[in-house]
Amino acid sequence: MSARNYRDVDKGIIIDMRSMCSVKVSHDRASANIGGGTIGGDLAVALSKQGLFTPIGWHPRLGYAGWSLAGGYGLYSSSYGLGVDHILGVRLVLADGSVVDVDESHHPDLFWALRGAGNGIWGVVTQLTIKIYPAPRLLVGTLEIQKEDWPAALDRWANDIEPNLPDEIAGELYFRNPTLTKPQMIIFFAWCAKEGDDLQKGWEYFQMMKSLPGAVVQRISESDFASYILSEMTIQPASFQTRGVIAKGMTNKIAQVIINNWKDPNFYMGFPCHFIHGKATKPDPTACFPLRYRHRIFPISARHAELPRTPEKDALVAEACARVLEELKATGDCYVGAAYENLIPPIDTDLEATFGKETLEKLRVLKKQYDHEDFFSRGYPVL
Ligand SMILES: Cc1cc2nc3c(=O)[nH]c(=O)nc-3n(C[C@H](O)[C@H](O)[C@H](O)COP(=O)(O)OP(=O)(O)OC[C@H]3O[C@@H](n4cnc5c(N)ncnc54)[C@H](O)[C@@H]3O)c2cc1C
Repeated sequence: MSARNYRDVDKGIIIDMRSMCSVKVSHDRASANIGGGTIGGDLAVALSKQGLFTPIGWHPRLGYAGWSLAGGYGLYSSSYGLGVDHILGVRLVLADGSVVDVDESHHPDLFWALRGAGNGIWGVVTQLTIKIYPAPRLLVGTLEIQKEDWPAALDRWANDIEPNLPDEIAGELYFRNPTLTKPQMIIFFAWCAKEGDDLQKGWEYFQMMKSLPGAVVQRISESDFASYILSEMTIQPASFQTRGVIAKGMTNKIAQVIINNWKDPNFYMGFPCHFIHGKATKPDPTACFPLRYRHRIFPISARHAELPRTPEKDALVAEACARVLEELKATGDCYVGAAYENLIPPIDTDLEATFGKETLEKLRVLKKQYDHEDFFSRGYPVL
């Protein structure tokens, strides 16, 4: 389930991988072989039945391969690392039809390229070997803050909370208006106890978040990851358009843009703001994933409130998204052009700003080596 729009793919085919869905846990219970079409939520459930866990994305219906090969952000990135950090090996069908097993010792160059720039440009991933863990102790829940309290809540968030978020907290912020005139700020609270710790610190941290101006607790419980993620389907309007930018974090200036931009009741809008900190920022020279610095990603998705979709309404939505984006960039708190391509569209992506010149050049050389006719031309990044 991509945030990209593949409706216009011509002179090509889309392979539905979902029947390649399987999960096989290793004897030492430290890794699992999964099919190339395995869906994140199905993986979480299969592991949970055996008391095991691995991070997946927010939405339970994302393909694990598509999610992780570009990076793989999620609720547990800060305590466990990104999806890309969990890939130990990949079975890949190359453009010439050969099947290769790729890992740190076999085709290490391809292994490096796949992890961070791997979405459909090197071949078809039919199997992945991934790291798994004993199921951790989790405290998960949701808080909601209505629009009138955003200024005070975001002021505290920007000044006290964001700069000091502990690694155990990997919750996310989501701004959205599922009811047109009632925007909500949602805090997905996810505390993952470090090995040997109980959840006491998590409960204390939750009490602090509960004291944010206007915060209303929707739910909070000690839970297993699979139950939580399956019940927490993020609302996303159908037929949405997306723009996006990466920022230093939820700064005061960014918060101000968000507060100011919820005045037009003609659009459904959503900003799911993933925050990358903690373990997710740990550099890994064996993977080309480039965004190893603290950042918050601001994908802006929107659609016109009135259906059916028309070119005129699409133009209004595009204008609204572009305006928000320009305001975010004007804060000076964004890494303009740097993009997480799973959530930020090509129009807002500058590959050199994202990967750096040297990495980009290396990727281009490898692409020529492994797919010199550009058979796999529809994935990303477009080198
Ligand atoms: C509602 C929603 C919520 C999201 N939440 C998150 C989130 O929490 N964290 C996050 O990081 N991202 C998130 N995303 C973005 C998501 O990671 C991307 O949309 C990702 O592309 C989904 O992968 P997919 O396999 O489901 O999609 P697809 O459209 O099937 O694939 C996307 C790309 O990956 C390639 N690909 C997929 N499978 C394979 C394979 N087996 N072999 C080779 N290439 C493959 C495809 O060629 C294509 O280029 C979200 C998107 C949506 C729509």
